Amino acid sequence: MAGVVFRNVRVFDGSGTAPFAAQVRVEGNRIVAVSPASSLALPRHGDQIYDCGGATLMPGLVEAHAHLSWPSSVEKFVPGMALPAEELVLTTARNARILLDYGFTSAYSAGSLSRRVEVALREQIESGGMPGPRLVASSVERTPPIAAEGQVLNPGDVDPHGAGPESVRAFVRSCAEMGARSVKFLLSGEDALQPGASQQLLYTEEEAKAAGDEAAAAGVWLAAHAQAAEAVKMALRNGFRVLYHCTYADEEALDMLEEARDEIFVAPAIGIIQATLEAMPPPHFDMQEMKRSAAEVLELQQRLVPELRKRGVRILPGGDYGFPFNPNGRNARDLELFVDLFGYTPREALHAATELGGALMGMPEELGRIAEGYLADLLLVDGDPTKDIAIIQDRQRLVGVMKDGHFHRTPHTLRVSQ
Ligand SMILES: [Zn+2]
Repeated sequence: MAGVVFRNVRVFDGSGTAPFAAQVRVEGNRIVAVSPASSLALPRHGDQIYDCGGATLMPGLVEAHAHLSWPSSVEKFVPGMALPAEELVLTTARNARILLDYGFTSAYSAGSLSRRVEVALREQIESGGMPGPRLVASSVERTPPIAAEGQVLNPGDVDPHGAGPESVRAFVRSCAEMGARSVKFLLSGEDALQPGASQQLLYTEEEAKAAGDEAAAAGVWLAAHAQAAEAVKMALRNGFRVLYHCTYADEEALDMLEEARDEIFVAPAIGIIQATLEAMPPPHFDMQEMKRSAAEVLELQQRLVPELRKRGVRILPGGDYGFPFNPNGRNARDLELFVDLFGYTPREALHAATELGGALMGMPEELGRIAEGYLADLLLVDGDPTKDIAIIQDRQRLVGVMKDGHFHRTPHTLRVSQ
């Protein structure tokens, strides 16, 4: 089978080691050879060859906290969060394409504004009808277990936010049956939305256990918005796989996170914090409390993240992009913030967004690395992101984007005839 050869590249392979000169061959949707730059073994007859002039070839990025249905993007500012149903569907599809444009070949959803849109989108993407990242799809985020006022359910529908363990079970089951892979719970509230709420537990232990039991039975993963220390512990006791924020984790929570480190992933979502601090809203929009909360979260996370890393917990970039002041498409900024705020080297940040991302997506042996046998999700970067992490935010520097062996952006000018 004819393949694609990237010649004259410096490979950052996702492991975190220094880039090395090589040539890489892709056949079908897999990387089939990573050879020394001097090797004459490549290419084969009929291959497309790209002479990359020393550009960096690296694995595609993984967004660990994606909200594709949140409306704002670098292409289109949307004031507010709610959209009519038709706009919501099209905007979600557009945001999927935008993430791929900006180098994210995988996305792990942290919740949707529509029950089924991500499942429908994933099917369109996987069947080749629409550009977008590999998607771990979710349904709506499960908010506090209180009967939503005035909510009218169709016969057979599950109340998405009812109280009690049975209601929680029914919600998890309905998400699984509809095709979601991950189910997101707001185990704690959020100060940015309501002062003091980050310390509030929104579920009982019995309800969280029901979620864990049902998710295990139905074969879906659980993700938690967990700010309060007790919310972190509740998530860990009940089999949650992805924990977002964890800002107020205390010593006991840290110990529990460490103990579960081979099963869980933590994404602090620093992008939204930095964006909140920088936002300059119009006068009628009061962000004072959000900014106060963000400053506190930043300070706490600057202690938390290095401590969790020391304990071997897998921490991933992914920063709640999709708000008007933190748009979809800017996602790679999280890596720069890991460097600037959490003490990562660029290579460590890239490793977190690639190799750890592959593990997050549930494909640790075939996604997130440049190595023989791995899936061909690749970025060709004009420059060296291991020296300057910010360049991967620049779409013009992403001269090639390949997902599953297909170019989403083809580096036409680098093509040489054999
Ligand atoms: Zn979020």
